[in-house]
Order: sequence, then structure tokens, then C-alpha cells
Amino acid sequence: MEPFTYSRASQTRDAIAAAASASTAQQGAEVRFVAGGTTLIDLMKLNVERPQQVVDINHLPLSEVETLADGRLKIGSLVRNSDLAHHPVVQRDYAVLSEALLAGASAQLRNMASTGGNLLQRTRCNYFRDADMPCNKREPGSGCSAIKGANRNLAILGTSDHCIATNPSDMNVALAALEAVIVVQGTQGERQVPIDAFFLLPGTTPERETLLQPGDLITHVLLPAPVKGARSHYLKLRDRASYEFALASAAVVFATDAGKISHVRIALGGVGTKPWRSPEAEKALHGQASTPENFAAAAAVALRDAQPQSENAFKVDLAQRCLTHALATVANV
Ligand SMILES: Cc1cc2nc3c(=O)[nH]c(=O)nc-3n(C[C@H](O)[C@H](O)[C@H](O)COP(=O)(O)OP(=O)(O)OC[C@H]3O[C@@H](n4cnc5c(N)ncnc54)[C@H](O)[C@@H]3O)c2cc1C
Ligand code: SF4
Repeated sequence: MEPFTYSRASQTRDAIAAAASASTAQQGAEVRFVAGGTTLIDLMKLNVERPQQVVDINHLPLSEVETLADGRLKIGSLVRNSDLAHHPVVQRDYAVLSEALLAGASAQLRNMASTGGNLLQRTRCNYFRDADMPCNKREPGSGCSAIKGANRNLAILGTSDHCIATNPSDMNVALAALEAVIVVQGTQGERQVPIDAFFLLPGTTPERETLLQPGDLITHVLLPAPVKGARSHYLKLRDRASYEFALASAAVVFATDAGKISHVRIALGGVGTKPWRSPEAEKALHGQASTPENFAAAAAVALRDAQPQSENAFKVDLAQRCLTHALATVANV
């Protein structure tokens, strides 16, 4: 590992000022924040992330979960994944988030991992994590080893000729279905970004994964007030029952009125280059009856634009069955 300096920030403005001196907020940034460290330190050991300065943000006052007067839930970016998963309001009103968090990593990792760090965790593409292999995301312009290589675990939605890596987070899929808003504090003040706009498709610049600019600190995540009568669920399919990333997953939020579907939000994991919300599948279900046939038809719509790679065509069917099953579970049919 190359030498780097370490500092602790106890004030938000100090953290932002330090990070604002970096030329980029993304891959290759010279200054990185560290929260739980379970992504960053891992990648530093592999020589994939090589910051010159690491700013420890764990002393910032961002570890609270709070219900706002208007019913929204405000989650501090340093709230640990285990605390969030077991928070009584999250378990009661946002079960999909609790389930997604508990489906991720291991108990030890969840005790360390933070909300902000989970949002920004990096892909598990093997070539990204191997500093000796060409990878456009790690080293722009070097090529994509996965397109003609080992791509079984990689994306089938939102891919480009430059990168086919999946966003690996379970939490992000639940946040997409819950229509979360990411609160960012930067050199120009605070801004609020809907999660769908926060994550970028790889296009020709896969090294840019989010809208973040140098100096930007995620301070909170906001969840809309729960929809009356809605139920939610996260289903994750993977090669082994624990300690494994998703091959396909589905997050659904669902309510009915007079026998018809009145509210449905759908996001997929393990298959997209970003947490994959499917407004098309939602539209296909709105106003329909809760039947297995309607759920299967909506799942087919969600995967309509899938572009499988050489080793992962199985994901098209797997993701459809995952979504169909998640919808049937939440609808109790
Ligand atoms: C063995 C293993 C298995 C795993 N399995 C799963 C799994 O099944 N599902 C899953 O979803 N995840 C899994 N993970 C990933 C894990 O969830 C992430 O590593 C974790 O959530 C990252 O959080 P952190 O606080 O440790 O991030 P850090 O490593 O501290 O930070 C990650 C990135 O976010 C940036 N950052 C952190 N906080 C902020 C902030 N507030 N503002 C701006 N930038 C910030 C850092 O600079 C860094 O670039 C696994 C990890 C490991 C090591
Ligand atoms: S899929 Fe993306 S992360 Fe993986 S090798 Fe290609 S460019 Fe790199």
C-alpha cells in the first residue's frame, strides 16, 4: 500500500474542505472519507483505491434515525447497517429496507458498515478488484476485461460497451423502491438528490458512478412517509444462503384498494449497473388485480430490455422469477 495521511474530522466543514481539494470525487480521488472502512480499506489493500489522504468522518454527528414532523424518516449517513435494520420504525414501516440490510454481508460487517458507505460501495467485478487487469472503471480507457471474460455475476440492464459491472448493494435496491432522497453537503451548500438521479449509468465514463462532486459529503438519507396500508418485501437470490452478493434480487412496495393494485414500487438488484427501478413494470401493474399471471407479465416487462453477456443469460429468467415471487409474497397470493 502506498503511504497516505490520516486525519479525523469532527466538523462537517473540515471534512468537506479536505475532500474539496481532490480533483475528482470518484475513482482516483486523492482524498477519501472513511466511515466503516469495509469497502475503502479492502480496496486500498488491493491497490485499487490509492488515496493520498484519508479523512475519518466517524466523529461527525450523523448517527441518528429521526421521524420528521411530516412523517418522513431521516437517516444519518453514519448510522450502521445493523442499527438501521433493527430500528423499530424501519422494521414497522420500511420492512423492505430492514430485510435488504439483513440479507447483506455478515453480522460483523453490518456492525461496521454505514449508510453512506453502503450507498457508495464499489462493484464486485473481479477485474475491477485486480489491479493487474484492464478495467475502464478503475483505469479509464484501459478496456473492459469482463465483456469477453468472466461475467456470470455482472449486469444485464443499463450496460454499455465500456462497462457491464453491477451495483452490488442490497440496501440501494430497497432505497430505490422506497424512493429515497440523498442529502449531500458540499462546497456550495446542501442539495437533495432523488436516488434514481444519484446513480449514473456507465455509458462512456464508468469511473463516474454518482453525481457527487469533490468535497461532497452524504449527510442523510430521507425516506418518504410510509404509504398507508402498504407492505414491502426484499427477496435476494444468490449462490449460497449467506455472505454472498445477489445474482438477482427484488424490492417491492405494494398496496391495494378495493381488490386492485393502488400503489406499487419495484426495484431490482444483481442485474443492473445501478439499483434498477422499473417504472414500466409498475405501470403494468397499477390498477390490475393481484394475480400470479399479472405479476409474471410485469416481471417480463421489467426484463424486456435485458442484454445478457456470454455467461449470464440465466439472469433474465432468474430475475423475472425473483420479482414474481416477491410480488406474490407481499400480495399474499
Ligand atoms: C466480505 C464482504 C461481503 C459483503 N457482502 C455484501 C452483501 O452481500 N450485500 C451488500 O450490500 N454489501 C455487501 N458488502 C459490502 C458492504 O455492505 C460495504 O462494504 C459497506 O456497506 C460499506 O460501508 P462502509 O461504511 O464500511 O464504507 P467505507 O469503506 O467507509 O466507504 C465506502 C466509500 O464511501 C465513501 N463514503 C463513506 N461515507 C461517506 C459519506 N458520508 N459521504 C461521502 N462519501 C462517503 C468512502 O470514501 C468510500 O469511497 C460486503 C463487504 C464485504 C467486505
Ligand atoms: S465490467 Fe466494468 S468494472 Fe468490470 S472490468 Fe469491465 S469496466 Fe471494469
